[in-house]
Amino acid sequence: MVGSLNLDTTLRVPRLPLPGETVLGTGRFSDTGGKGANQAVAAARLGRSVAMVGAVGDDDAGVALLRSLVEAGVDTSAVGVLDGIGSGMAVISVADTAENTIVVDPGANGALDPQQVRRAAEILSTAAVTLAQLEVPIGAVATAAVLTGGRFVLNPAPAGPIPADILERVSVLVPNASELGVLAGDAPPGGADEAARMARAVRGPGAVVVTLGADGAVVVEGRRVVHVPAPSVVAVDPTAAGDAFCGGLADGLVRGLDLVDAVRWAVRCGAVAATRWGAQASLPNRGDVEALA
Ligand code: ADP
Repeated sequence: MVGSLNLDTTLRVPRLPLPGETVLGTGRFSDTGGKGANQAVAAARLGRSVAMVGAVGDDDAGVALLRSLVEAGVDTSAVGVLDGIGSGMAVISVADTAENTIVVDPGANGALDPQQVRRAAEILSTAAVTLAQLEVPIGAVATAAVLTGGRFVLNPAPAGPIPADILERVSVLVPNASELGVLAGDAPPGGADEAARMARAVRGPGAVVVTLGADGAVVVEGRRVVHVPAPSVVAVDPTAAGDAFCGGLADGLVRGLDLVDAVRWAVRCGAVAATRWGAQASLPNRGDVEALA
C-alpha cells in the first residue's frame, strides 16, 4: 500500500451546508483514516499480508495512526515519521441522507517523496498487488508504479490529472463516478451504461472498475463489460466504503480471483462499510462480509 494516513474528525449534520452557510451538527467523533491506511487495514482485516509505505508527523496523531495499522497487523516499517510536520487530518461531514463531504489537510502525506518510496523497493517488487491513491504526491505514486513487480491498482482519489506514463502501468484503475467524470473531462456518468462508455475512453490501464455507490460497480476489461450490483443495505455513512471496496478488490486479486469475481467480493466489502459509522471502524473482516445476505 502506498498512500495516506489521516486522523479524521467526523461531524454529523442534518444536511450538508451550502457555500457560506452554517449548520448545527448533531454529534462528532474521531477515527483513524486516510485512503491509504484505510485500504491497508481493509485488506489486512480480510486476511492479507499488507505493508504500508507512507508518512506521518511527529505528533500524537502520528502515534495513533501507526498504532491502528499495527493493531490490524499491517507492517509499518516503511511508514516514515517526519520531524517538524503534523500528521494528515480530515474533517468529514455526514448528513442524515448518508452523503458526506471531506476536506483533507495532507500534512506529512504531502511530504512522501520518491526517495522514501524507493527505500521500499523490495516490498514493491515482491508484492502480488500494489495499491495506491492520490492523497500523496504524484511523484510518490509514479515511483511506486515503476517499482511494482505485481499488479498495480490505482484508486485515483481525490481526482486529479494522472500522467500517461503512470496510467500505462496501471493494471486496474478504480475511480468512483465523480472521479471518472474528472478523468474523462466530463460530468459524472448517469448510470452503469454511461460509466462503461466513459471508462472505455480512458487510455492506458489494463482494466477500469467504476464504483457507483448503491449501484455497485462496472468492470470494463477490453471488450468485456460487466455490471456488478451491490447488495441492498441501509447506508448510514459512506466514509471508507470506497476504501473497503479497494481493499476487498486487492484481497480478491491476491487470492487469484478473476477480476469480475474480485469485484463481486469488493462490492460486498464496500456495502458493509456503508452500514457503519467511521473510517477504519467501519471496515469489515471476512466473516462480516460473508454474513451479508
Ligand atoms: P466512494 O466511497 O469512493 O465515493 P462509492 O460511493 O462508489 O465510492 O462506493 C464504493 C462501493 O461501496 C460501492 O461500489 C458499493 O460496493 C459500496 N457502497 C457504497 N454505498 C453503498 C450503498 N448505499 N449501498 C450498497 N453499497 C454501497
